[in-house]
Amino acid sequence: MSGGYCAHPTLGQPPLEPEPRPDDAGCRRPASRRRRSRPRSIEGEPMTVQITAEDIAQELGISVRGPVLTADAPDYAAEVAAFNLAVSQHPLVAVGALDAEDVATVVQVARLHGWKVAVQTTGHGAMHPIDAQILISTRRLDAVDIDAQAKVARIGGGVRWAAVVPAAAEHGLLPITGSSPNVGVVGYLMGGGLGPLARSFGYSSDYVVGATVVSGTGEILEVSADAHPDLFWAIRGGKYELGIVTEIRVRLIELSTIYGGALLFGTDDIERVLRGWAEWTLSAPDAVTTSLLVAKFPDLDLLPPFLRGRQVAMLRFAYPGDPDEGARLAAPLRALATAEQDAIRPLASTDLGQIHNDPTDPGPSWLRGAFLSALPAEAASILLETFTAPDAPYTMLELRHYGGALVESAVDSAVGGRDVHIAMGFGGFNPTRFADLPSAADALLDRLEPWLAPETNINFTGDQFGARHPLAAWSDEKASRIAGVQGRYDPDGLFHWWDAGERGAVGAER
Ligand SMILES: Cc1cc2nc3c(=O)[nH]c(=O)nc-3n(C[C@H](O)[C@H](O)[C@H](O)COP(=O)(O)OP(=O)(O)OC[C@H]3O[C@@H](n4cnc5c(N)ncnc54)[C@H](O)[C@@H]3O)c2cc1C
Repeated sequence: MSGGYCAHPTLGQPPLEPEPRPDDAGCRRPASRRRRSRPRSIEGEPMTVQITAEDIAQELGISVRGPVLTADAPDYAAEVAAFNLAVSQHPLVAVGALDAEDVATVVQVARLHGWKVAVQTTGHGAMHPIDAQILISTRRLDAVDIDAQAKVARIGGGVRWAAVVPAAAEHGLLPITGSSPNVGVVGYLMGGGLGPLARSFGYSSDYVVGATVVSGTGEILEVSADAHPDLFWAIRGGKYELGIVTEIRVRLIELSTIYGGALLFGTDDIERVLRGWAEWTLSAPDAVTTSLLVAKFPDLDLLPPFLRGRQVAMLRFAYPGDPDEGARLAAPLRALATAEQDAIRPLASTDLGQIHNDPTDPGPSWLRGAFLSALPAEAASILLETFTAPDAPYTMLELRHYGGALVESAVDSAVGGRDVHIAMGFGGFNPTRFADLPSAADALLDRLEPWLAPETNINFTGDQFGARHPLAAWSDEKASRIAGVQGRYDPDGLFHWWDAGERGAVGAER
């Protein structure tokens, strides 16, 4: 343990809803509408003992092996930092767990004192500051073990895909990953996981075979189809407030190379490519997964000249098979317009991240998503008009074509948004335009209403909180089944993602 909690005028009682600290100018701390639990003794009687962050940190420091940090500790800022720099995390105590026992201890101590617990691995999913008092950082749970014979990877709760893919590739195997190697495996899988090979292989969480989960009562549970099947069902897509996963086990497929990459089209071809690609998706083969990114790049020297100050389209393509057949399947897309660059080629599985080339450095972002059931010419016109307008507040629009194995090889899990034609994500990276984005996004979704799918997967909903256009991440039936599991494994509501009122906006009210 290091660092004492800075002087806080309200720290006479457990700060279930912490006030901004004097040195926190500018830190947004949302008012919680969530059910409040009063601090309780082990016997369940209300406690009168008052506790500070320093007290909790001292208590944790006795039995937790990893670092326990209060806000004035030198390593605190690095421990809580999110990938999205627009979000600044200010838990009262941050704990870097070294193993499942560390996590269980934190949960038990937090429960005893009625404090809330949040979890962060990479901060790729950070959309708003956490409002729990304790943040468990899982990134030291970094073990990866490949059982080549069983074709199963055991993956620590803090691992990124970048560590799993090369380890599996040594055995000619591949996990079904997302677009970015830097995203955390567990956070991605708990949301479902839609990657660049999704039309061929389905949701990534369909490949989960088991997990080690610390429950809201501090128990370390081995979870699979046979053990705690309700929790196993829920962690594959239910995402939040279900427990802290310290290890997850996924089935691997035999695949070493794919035919994939991206075509880069210039500004003048954006309309032709978007319309042509949308038409092509109507008859695209299931074995091919494609997506289209329309992105506006700032005029910065650090960018390559072909991107600097330009709006371009990137058409991504992935086919897990023979390169000649892949080239044949890619031919209609290559014919849409003359690509300025053609980087579709045989790729080693370890280079899968090059298909999307997602940003690797932390930066500020505001993103929202919606799933579309169809993308007819009228909807394409709205998108073109919106995103190519010179004064648009947006930096990017991404359209991913799904379907195929997502539906055809579906397993029974909490995943929402399975039956989707287009997964749309859009937003900006320029903080000076962030204030314009929520209302612009609402207006856009109003216009797209006729084609909005009933569910948008939770990994894609983005920052919709307070949005006039709430999107469901699950059907009502799934949302209530997830809520039931949350209640069973976290009866005191210890795990804290966001307050319940806002949670309703994505379809799961406890
Ligand atoms: C650049 C980029 C690319 C992306 N690409 C895809 C994609 O292709 N497909 C897709 O489906 N999604 C994608 N996403 C969304 C991403 O999968 C989610 O944001 C995911 O939650 C990130 O997990 P994380 O651990 O990296 O982030 P974090 O912000 O650390 O975690 C997000 C949430 O995941 C949960 N979580 C994380 N670790 C644990 C744990 N050990 N135990 C329990 N809960 C945990 C917590 O609820 C946490 O709040 C992308 C996001 C970004 C920023």
